[in-house]
Amino acid sequence: MFILVVNAGSSSLKYQLFEMTKEEVLAKGLCERIGIDGKITHTNLQTGEKFSKEVAMPTHNEATRAMIDALLDAQYGVIKDMSDISAIGHRVVQGGPWITKPTLVTDEAIEDLKKCVVLAPLHTPPHLQGIEGCKAVMPNTPMVLVIDTSFHATIPEYASTFPIDINVSRKHHIKRYGAHGTSHRYVAQECAKWLDKPVEETKIVTCHLGNGSSISAVKGGKVVDTSMGFTPLDGIIMGSRCGAIDPAVVPYVMEKENIPVDKIGDWMNKKCGLLGVSGVSSDLRDVHAAIAEGNKDAKLAFDILVYEIKKFVGAYAAAMNGVDAVVFTAGIGENDHEVRFHSLKDMEYLGIKVDAEKNLSVRSLPAPCDISADGSAVRVFVIPTNEELVIARDTKEVLDSLK
Ligand code: ADP
Repeated sequence: MFILVVNAGSSSLKYQLFEMTKEEVLAKGLCERIGIDGKITHTNLQTGEKFSKEVAMPTHNEATRAMIDALLDAQYGVIKDMSDISAIGHRVVQGGPWITKPTLVTDEAIEDLKKCVVLAPLHTPPHLQGIEGCKAVMPNTPMVLVIDTSFHATIPEYASTFPIDINVSRKHHIKRYGAHGTSHRYVAQECAKWLDKPVEETKIVTCHLGNGSSISAVKGGKVVDTSMGFTPLDGIIMGSRCGAIDPAVVPYVMEKENIPVDKIGDWMNKKCGLLGVSGVSSDLRDVHAAIAEGNKDAKLAFDILVYEIKKFVGAYAAAMNGVDAVVFTAGIGENDHEVRFHSLKDMEYLGIKVDAEKNLSVRSLPAPCDISADGSAVRVFVIPTNEELVIARDTKEVLDSLK
């Protein structure tokens, strides 16, 4: 059975084609810099052949088309016909109260997903575009929505309820839904294997640091708190999102900068974060390049990032009455040794000590790496996330349940 997993993010579209008997990935690819210029990198993992080329991707529709062309390509493709694919699993960041488990795509499910645009304005439209793009090419292939927010459903009410008028929050379904749940679920389970303990006996802080970032406290395999909130705007500084700020700043900026209510969300989502502080870019690689050229605001953006990560690790150690491991994952977590080192620097009092050499030598991904120093009571891991595998498994389960 072949399952195609599509992960349409805010600036990227990742895909993997799985053969499910062996849970083997046959081909994978990444469409990146969507909305900027556009580039596809595709690998046929059967032959190891890979290509990379620039393709204009003003929206996710063009990225979807590029993915399909690559999978069918005579030289680099792995299938002859799209009908070889049994099902498509779509990663969905926010299901709200409407979609809380892996769900078959139907007209009704699409309507429910459209309701989620208000909760995840950056992510839901790309999901809908990814689904529409696949539907146009493969109208008879079943599709499944795999929801990130479902892993956070275990957060206790006192941690998921915002201290506002309870009638207002109940009426409008306002609560901490979290984000990146599939990634947090995967790395926490992998981490437990590396700790050589049943996941039920572990206390893990998982740091998913990408273009969008979230940090979770996972106790006994269940999320007890997470940095993302009602929308993927909460928590730490992100590429172009502000993260948590004093709520009073919002009406103040609206008044002083003359920003109307229908534009303030855009401002917080697209003009803040690393981009807003550095004035350079939402991409941390560009921020590093600017720091190297002596840009002080770029350095400030970096310092905010590592400080905010540190604060969440400390807070979640308190929330769980201890911590066995800290895990870094996603674009920044897997690749940026400076972020890993500086965010966990000077935390020996909590038993956290990173080995500078091991941290620098994290080159051999996708293997998980232990970067903790000898004698560090808390283990520190870099674990490449594998949301796609979790999505493929959930998609297969839904498909099997239809039989
Ligand atoms: P998303 O899926 O949320 O769009 P990613 O997980 O791909 O985002 O992460 C994007 C971020 O990861 C960017 O800030 C980028 O700078 C950073 N990143 C990706 N690759 C590298 C790398 N090799 N070194 C440093 N940072 C990287």
